[in-house]
Amino acid sequence: MGEKEEEDDFIIVPMDNECAENVPQDGSHERLSEIDNSIESLRASLWPLNKFIHENPELAFEEHKAHDALTKFMRSQKDWHVTTSAYGMETAWVAVYDSGKAGPVVSFNAEMDALPNLGHACGHNLIATASLAAGLATAEMIKRHNLSGKVLIFGTPGEEGIGGGKIRLLDAGAYEGVDISLISHPGILNNSPLVRTTAFARLEVEYFGRAAHAANSPWLGVNALDALVIAYNAVSVLRQQTMPSDVIGMGITDGGGAPNIIHAYAAGVCVIRASSASRLKELQQKVSACFRAGAEATGARAEVKIIQGYADHVPNRILAASYTKYWNLLPDLPDPPIPSGGQFTWIKASTDQGNISYAMPSVNASFAIPPGTQAGQPHSPDFEKASATKGAFARALRVGKVLAATAVDVLKKPGLIDEIKDQWRRDMDAIKEQD
Ligand SMILES: [Zn+2]
Ligand SMILES: [Zn+2]
Repeated sequence: MGEKEEEDDFIIVPMDNECAENVPQDGSHERLSEIDNSIESLRASLWPLNKFIHENPELAFEEHKAHDALTKFMRSQKDWHVTTSAYGMETAWVAVYDSGKAGPVVSFNAEMDALPNLGHACGHNLIATASLAAGLATAEMIKRHNLSGKVLIFGTPGEEGIGGGKIRLLDAGAYEGVDISLISHPGILNNSPLVRTTAFARLEVEYFGRAAHAANSPWLGVNALDALVIAYNAVSVLRQQTMPSDVIGMGITDGGGAPNIIHAYAAGVCVIRASSASRLKELQQKVSACFRAGAEATGARAEVKIIQGYADHVPNRILAASYTKYWNLLPDLPDPPIPSGGQFTWIKASTDQGNISYAMPSVNASFAIPPGTQAGQPHSPDFEKASATKGAFARALRVGKVLAATAVDVLKKPGLIDEIKDQWRRDMDAIKEQD
């Protein structure tokens, strides 16, 4: 892929001679050039911050060092108002730049958490970097061009596992009055602003039977493990009839006690993913039926706990069109290109940005960083190493520039925010119709 570590002085060049007529004449490439310069001027101060977060991985809701470093950095920026430990979470924070004039309110989410035993193998240091760069450059453009509106950067804790830090922020009213939410996520495969992620839920099942001696008097027992095995097999059979985008994983967390005793207790857990929240609900019902089958066949009592995970991410097409335009306008276009024709990029993973996308127009842009030696994907030790490089940092800055240009479009173009919201309403209506 060959990312240059030091970028050349900024010059906008069309990709090739044939595209010369595609360079927009509406001032957008001049704006991008200003944003490019403004983020380049932050490069030297953002690199140590990015490195510090990567070198100090912290688990969900324990991102104290990242919280302190990021808020200290934002406090050092002129005219930003920073709230630490915001909305009842010690490691959540919000930084606000207000033009003082009513206008669109644009926001960026900065994730901070790492993974158990794997460090920053999901590259959230790069997400924080891209969002900080984008927010700062957007504010700079407001200042220079006397634009109306506000920019917010949220430090969003606990994305990994089912922490749902953004859901907690939503519930606490953090996004009230916010018009759009922008974020990005690194990987090695895709560059795309039209990312769809899966909806996800966790179903925990417990079976309560009756113990009996397996040799002496097995007929007195009710076998909880048998109930669980039947459920496991029923789920396995169900997989033949699922949709290609459905994913069901199941594990046994308690396989009973001694083998010469009829098992009084057994437990398992199922994680399900689907392409939409409504499909997830259907799948949830089917898996619950498999659980009931185990109980019915054995006489054990089943107790099912459903833990709602994250909603699927619904990307906003109008915002994504701005993103694509600016991505393609910046020089040194990385591989792979953004898919043409507004194609979705499906990622079989889940994020709480999905819940944000059900609350307001959102973009969760995927970006490819130079892969590690094993071409490891997120959540692998190889990706942890890849997330630490200057090449990965350079890609995060590129994303920051493009996110900022997208936000500036919203602030600058009259009526664009209404178009974006209309699209969001149409997307939400289409989802409701599927229900
Ligand atoms: Zn992750
Ligand atoms: Zn992640």
